[in-house]
Amino acid sequence: MIIILFGPPGAGKGTQAEKLVDKYNLKQLSTGDMLREAITRGSELGEKAKSIMDRGELVSDEIILSMIREKLEKRDSNGFIFDGFPRNLEQAKALDEILHDLRLRLDLVVEIVVKDDVLISRIENRARESKKARSDDNAQVLKNRLNVYHQSTEMIKPYYLEKKKLVKIDGMRSIEKVSGDIEGHLLDIIKQ
Ligand code: AMP
Repeated sequence: MIIILFGPPGAGKGTQAEKLVDKYNLKQLSTGDMLREAITRGSELGEKAKSIMDRGELVSDEIILSMIREKLEKRDSNGFIFDGFPRNLEQAKALDEILHDLRLRLDLVVEIVVKDDVLISRIENRARESKKARSDDNAQVLKNRLNVYHQSTEMIKPYYLEKKKLVKIDGMRSIEKVSGDIEGHLLDIIKQ
């Protein structure tokens, strides 16, 4: 099973992905986590990505797509859950090609809908809780990340709507309610 969790920064994609990983034995592919690991390792790729991420802009499609291809080619899981990828139409189209090459199929794209003002207060809280805080969790960078989301990432919605893969979920409720809705859609797919 291959699922995309899609939504603005702070929508809860990571939290929801972790829940699904445990329950359905899927592998989480978070491009943000992969980039942060590269920064921690001090790799050349990490060096390139750090300043872009600190500004809240998008890392190049080339870097992102080669990371994703490498992970998928390992075929070390029954299924994958993408979190934070694709971030623009080019990445969405390239993902289709990669999946086609590897004879894999995308099952579902879940949009977690959260209003901007709710996101801003969530990220401000995350920034205050030092353990979870990230270097890109501050008001100015968040504004930038939200702009990028509205200008680039949301463009993938019509693409997946046309393919009849997109479902929307209200992300402004409890973690359990949101995960319950996502699982309802997954079960529909499993039954098909
Ligand atoms: P995230 O952890 O998903 O919020 O991502 C943190 C940052 O990593 C983003 O603000 C981007 O700078 C970068 N990033 C993560 N995923 C992607 C992607 N698919 N395409 C481009 N940049 C990305």
